[in-house]
Amino acid sequence: MSEQPPRLDLCCSLPADAQAVHADLFDLQLVADGVYAAIAAPQYKLNSNAAVILTNDGAIVVDSHSKPSAAQALFQLIQGVTKQPIRKLINTHFHWDHWQGNEVYAKAFPDLAIIASERTQHNLTTPGAGVGGVAFIAQQVEALPAEIAQLKNDLLRASSRGEKARLETHLEQAEAFLEEVQRLNPVLPTQTVTRSMTMQEAGREIQLLLLGRAHTDGDLFIYLPKEKVMVTGDAVVDWMPFLGDGYPEEWIETLNALEQVDFTHMILGHGEVAPKSHLTFFRNYLTDLIASVKQAAAEGATVTEMQTTVAEQLAPKYEQGMSKYPLGQYRDRIGPTIEIVYHKVVQTP
Ligand SMILES: [Zn+2]
Ligand SMILES: [Zn+2]
Repeated sequence: MSEQPPRLDLCCSLPADAQAVHADLFDLQLVADGVYAAIAAPQYKLNSNAAVILTNDGAIVVDSHSKPSAAQALFQLIQGVTKQPIRKLINTHFHWDHWQGNEVYAKAFPDLAIIASERTQHNLTTPGAGVGGVAFIAQQVEALPAEIAQLKNDLLRASSRGEKARLETHLEQAEAFLEEVQRLNPVLPTQTVTRSMTMQEAGREIQLLLLGRAHTDGDLFIYLPKEKVMVTGDAVVDWMPFLGDGYPEEWIETLNALEQVDFTHMILGHGEVAPKSHLTFFRNYLTDLIASVKQAAAEGATVTEMQTTVAEQLAPKYEQGMSKYPLGQYRDRIGPTIEIVYHKVVQTP
């Protein structure tokens, strides 16, 4: 995969079902006293979840979605729970769907601190780092017209009314997204961290944990020890994880380190708030996936063969649990995922 240009549709933008596209972008859920999970509604051009942490003198927001209008929508919801300013914004990693709304908070609060890991800052500012960052904005602008043309073409051929409605929604979202991405004003982190640290934030302790490479080389976990809540970014999600910019084997080690931390709930990068037990399912999937690809390769299977055999082998244990939402379903992603794992673990370990 590394020799190919990053594909826009691999990370997170697999088509959602039109029925699941709600008018509202986020559902703000109380996870602990003053701690909210903003769960993103499925969209063709998806958004990440966010966490909102209230302190005695302001709020802290984790991740800013794929576009300013989504950040603006969440900002309005936040103003419904606190009139205090947003003091800090944290970006868990550099992917497009987690930081492209940064400008909304920076514009509203000129003193805002934007925090990320040093590696995330590096990836945001380095062309070719993967599916995110300043250079990736131009790639999206370049790729979207062809995607829009394809949607228009598909729409002409749509045979059922339902399919037509679904494609019309996707087309509408893709066109609106292009318009926003063309006008993006990328706002980068103002502070970086190179190791785990504790912040005392007006009555609340917040730990920023760097536990190792996983979904990217700069994944930042945000931990509230008193409330026992962990914000994971895409290092843990509730659908098929994207491994294109990841480190499959180290990811498992990082999740082992995460498991050692005392928490009860996770606000994930995508999907509903999950109990700590979800970590076991998610880690087992990565472990079994890597082991199956390695074994198939040792037995001489080609990638194409593995995309059938390994997919079938893992399906009884993982298909259902990895297909809870219209986005990121097992059958949509297992093929490309197996190819990525093969290249990262077998070919160039
Ligand atoms: Zn994401
Ligand atoms: Zn990601």
